Amino acid sequence: MRLLQEVKSELNRLYIFELEDGLRIESVFYRGDTLCISSQVGCAIGCPFCLSGSKGLVRNLTVEEIYLQYRFLRDKLPIKRIAVAGIGEPLMNYQNVERAFWMFKEEGLKVSFYTTGFPVNRLSDLLRLPHNGITLSVHTVDEEKRKYLLPHAGSLKELLQVLKGGLMGLTKRKRKKVGLAYLLLKGINDSPEELVRFADLVKDLGLSAVLLYYNPTSYGFHELSTQEYERAFLILRSCGIKVTLSTRYRKDRLGGCGTLVVNRSL
Ligand code: SF4
Repeated sequence: MRLLQEVKSELNRLYIFELEDGLRIESVFYRGDTLCISSQVGCAIGCPFCLSGSKGLVRNLTVEEIYLQYRFLRDKLPIKRIAVAGIGEPLMNYQNVERAFWMFKEEGLKVSFYTTGFPVNRLSDLLRLPHNGITLSVHTVDEEKRKYLLPHAGSLKELLQVLKGGLMGLTKRKRKKVGLAYLLLKGINDSPEELVRFADLVKDLGLSAVLLYYNPTSYGFHELSTQEYERAFLILRSCGIKVTLSTRYRKDRLGGCGTLVVNRSL
């Protein structure tokens, strides 16, 4: 494995790695302290708004390939936190992701995860790790719509059942580190009624919400305007839940959510 290229934007730094078999994956350094790493080459979940999974799953990354994304960069960047939020669904490569997790912890790093929660038996395992944050991609409370937005992420009903069970075993402090993400897509899931239903779910579970801004790709989905995004935020807030917004780093054209690709042409 080798570091092939560094690409800088005003906010983020994107790193392209070439693996031994010639495949390419990406990592992003953002927020001045966080390295977002990939866990798979491609992704089997197949979210239609995401570039990372547009070619399906090619293969899992090995433990070394997950760890080396950090190892190659640790001497040149002030990395304090690892976000397993790049290309891939970490739970679908759980064994290797968990082993890499412990390696990161040994280095004194904070480690957080972004996941669809699928497969759900692995979600229970993940919740028990001494992680520093898990954000679960929900994006809608409508079962049919979720099948469209996250085609291979299993049923929402089952996810929520397992999540409820897993949360019961956690202390209040650990629960605070779990959030539900809602990616706003114009005309798809942005109606006030849907947002209120999502807020009810968040409240019911005693969690917080992460309201994600969509980084446009070429797939025909559209982002909300700044005013519409703020309105959605206020709707959720008025329901009495804690809401975090996408930071400018996550909206950046380079390395923003859903914009990492497999085998980027140079
Ligand atoms: S958004 Fe995440 S889960 Fe969905 S295809 Fe992209 S990498 Fe996979």
